[in-house]
Amino acid sequence: MGAIAAVAIIVACILVFRQLGGSTEEPAEEAGVVTMICRDCGEVFKITYKDMGLEEHPDLDALQEKATGMACPKCGKKNTVVSVRCPRCGKPFAPPTDTSQIRDFKCPHCKKSPWKR
Ligand SMILES: [Zn+2]
Ligand SMILES: [Zn+2]
Repeated sequence: MGAIAAVAIIVACILVFRQLGGSTEEPAEEAGVVTMICRDCGEVFKITYKDMGLEEHPDLDALQEKATGMACPKCGKKNTVVSVRCPRCGKPFAPPTDTSQIRDFKCPHCKKSPWKR
């Protein structure tokens, strides 16, 4: 009886933990919020379109243009870009600057190409 109660408590704890966002999986992107990454120090931070001075549904070019060269909250360097979420490991990374690098690009977290099979 005691063992069953203990298991039930553990399961309940895990469920609560997950609901609070404590799991290792990143939560889905919220609307109007952009995940940015600093090319210098790798700091990942979130910013809203509003804080960037953009309208609610900016086109991607306007967004990239605004997002490039914003001051990083950690190192202060203006070398930030909109991050890309790796489809393999789910972690955000800075996309390659040059499209010709995409073929050989590897995710810095899982070391696999996010775009190749
Ligand atoms: Zn930085
Ligand atoms: Zn990855």
